[in-house]
Amino acid sequence: MHRPGGNARAGMEQVLSTPSTIPRARHEPHEVPASEPGLASAGRTMDAFGRHIHYLRVSLTDKCNLRCVYCMPEQMVFRPSDELLSDEELFTVLRATSLLGFDKYRLTGGEPTVRPNLVGIVGEIARMPGVREITMTTNGLRLANLAVPLRQAGLQRVNVSLDSLDEQKYHRLTRWGHVGDVLAGINAAEAVGMHPVKINCVVIRGYNEDSMTDLARLTYEHDWQVRFLEVMPFADVADFQQASIVTTQEMMRYIESTVDRLVELNDGKLDGEARLYRLPGARGEIGFISPVTVPFCASCSRVRLTADGTLRLCLLKDGELDLKTPLRRGAGVDELAELMRMAIWHKPWGHDLSHGVIPQNRIMSEIGG
Ligand code: SAM
Ligand code: SF4
Repeated sequence: MHRPGGNARAGMEQVLSTPSTIPRARHEPHEVPASEPGLASAGRTMDAFGRHIHYLRVSLTDKCNLRCVYCMPEQMVFRPSDELLSDEELFTVLRATSLLGFDKYRLTGGEPTVRPNLVGIVGEIARMPGVREITMTTNGLRLANLAVPLRQAGLQRVNVSLDSLDEQKYHRLTRWGHVGDVLAGINAAEAVGMHPVKINCVVIRGYNEDSMTDLARLTYEHDWQVRFLEVMPFADVADFQQASIVTTQEMMRYIESTVDRLVELNDGKLDGEARLYRLPGARGEIGFISPVTVPFCASCSRVRLTADGTLRLCLLKDGELDLKTPLRRGAGVDELAELMRMAIWHKPWGHDLSHGVIPQNRIMSEIGG
């Protein structure tokens, strides 16, 4: 991993408040995997547990214009650009996923808006056959200027990360950012019709628990989906992340005690990875994403492409398929598709955080959240 672990880690530990351990997860029951790799049926790519895999999260870069405390150290050292996939290499991999029946793409990072030619990349994905959905997760800082060209290129929606409306708290969490820039980005996305705008807030003990109140209240005025996320542990940052996790249960109690009761939507069923609620009388929705305490592995339909060209089968497990080496050897779309199809068959069932298994080889920004 490309970062000076020692100093950064010491910095992380200084800001710990209430230490806790990872709460035990309520794992869904899962089926015994099939033993024979099956061919994709009718253009569908399946894993051994019978899950239809058709959603790719594409990390366009490991670089970022923020340094969120729960994501990366301030002195983060990024990969040299020649280790990342070029546009042409990226398009070859994407075409291979299209061949496998993928129809949903989310651009992420690092910060996707710092990748050169982002608009051209969106346009290229939009032109691939069978694509139903192109979305992006961003910190929003550059969105005010990019919303119009991104929309014209085919981007349908954005999730914007905003951990607090309080300037000082936001700055303490992100180290470098300003709330006003993010809100300008959100408004620009809404103005160009990227509905509904989703706002992601990772809740960190000792940093922004009380910011949940104002963020939840945004849904009275705006038709937005405000989602609160449990922080997940990765590699060198894991100690900080484990010590600062606020569980969904705690988040819900906090919002109900400071704002109003939460009315369950969708019969309690997942919408993507979120469970949805509404405050009585509110226009927007509130979502909770609980990867640690209530994993949603049973309904997982995704794999991830890292910016340096590996296919990551599960966010929270280290198993990856190297695509860059075959690509740079001259592999084409068909060969890459076959490699991916075989790897996806072996996608692990899910994570084992509650048994102490923490991903070690990359942090979130290097995988693509
Ligand atoms: N830079 C973009 C952003 O911040 O939205 C996209 C990449 S970021 C890695 C994607 C999402 O992951 C963000 O909503 C961020 O808050 C979240 N995130 C980062 N580290 C996390 C962690 N350790 N646990 C849970 N969520 C995390
Ligand atoms: Fe950058 Fe997103 Fe990580 Fe924050 S969460 S440091 S914005 S990649």
